[in-house]
Amino acid sequence: MKYQLVVIALVAASLVGCQANPVSGRQQLVLVSEDQAQASSAQAYTQTLSEAQKKGNLSTDAGLNNRVRRITDRLIAEAKLMYPPSRDWQWSVAVIDEPTLNAWCMPGGKMAIYTGIIQKLKLSDDEIGQIMGHEIAHALLGHGRERMSRAIAMQGGMQLGSILAGRDLSILAPVADIALTLPNSRENESEADRYGLELAARAGFDPRAAVRLWEKMSAASGDGPPQFLSTHPAPGNRIQALNALMPQMMPIYEKAR
Ligand SMILES: [Zn+2]
Repeated sequence: MKYQLVVIALVAASLVGCQANPVSGRQQLVLVSEDQAQASSAQAYTQTLSEAQKKGNLSTDAGLNNRVRRITDRLIAEAKLMYPPSRDWQWSVAVIDEPTLNAWCMPGGKMAIYTGIIQKLKLSDDEIGQIMGHEIAHALLGHGRERMSRAIAMQGGMQLGSILAGRDLSILAPVADIALTLPNSRENESEADRYGLELAARAGFDPRAAVRLWEKMSAASGDGPPQFLSTHPAPGNRIQALNALMPQMMPIYEKAR
């Protein structure tokens, strides 16, 4: 708590602070700039992939890699229209061959999906489209930066000065890593559900698959909650809220199909 106050005081005195997110318009407290978030995410991404490769866990299944890439390419094309600055992102997707039920998209468009979630939940293309649409929405909405900011606050804010001064990005790589393990807020989840659904519908993925996806996910919680659910906590009425968006989303999907 004491550290959080220090962080807030430092932030108040710096250029980085409360900003309106360009996509949602919502005010966010951010301790890292978009450039810093992307640079450190790129570093964490390279590290994650090289560790997976060392363990032989980077999927070499060409069919699966192509399937995932076809799906994410459609989403990326729409993301660039929804949020034009993402045209300059170095988008990338990896398929990690681990039994984890997880998927993510870091700031700057560095994505991964795990074979565990595809196989155990027997995901259709529409469901993969929905899950990656939701992840990309988190990135477009700046939620990764918010989580990184929380990771910095957790570290005690000791290195905050040099981070804010942009002197040492290596400090931020572990922060980008930790951020991936922190839960999003329920408010962020609702936002990502809403924007992810629209992004996926525009890319031609069936909005109804989002409902099926979350139903499958909660059914899989039997043997311990999937990692995905610990980082994406359910806004209480998720299924209800998604269903309420269907009349709005179905025409977008029908048009894009
Ligand atoms: Zn989420």
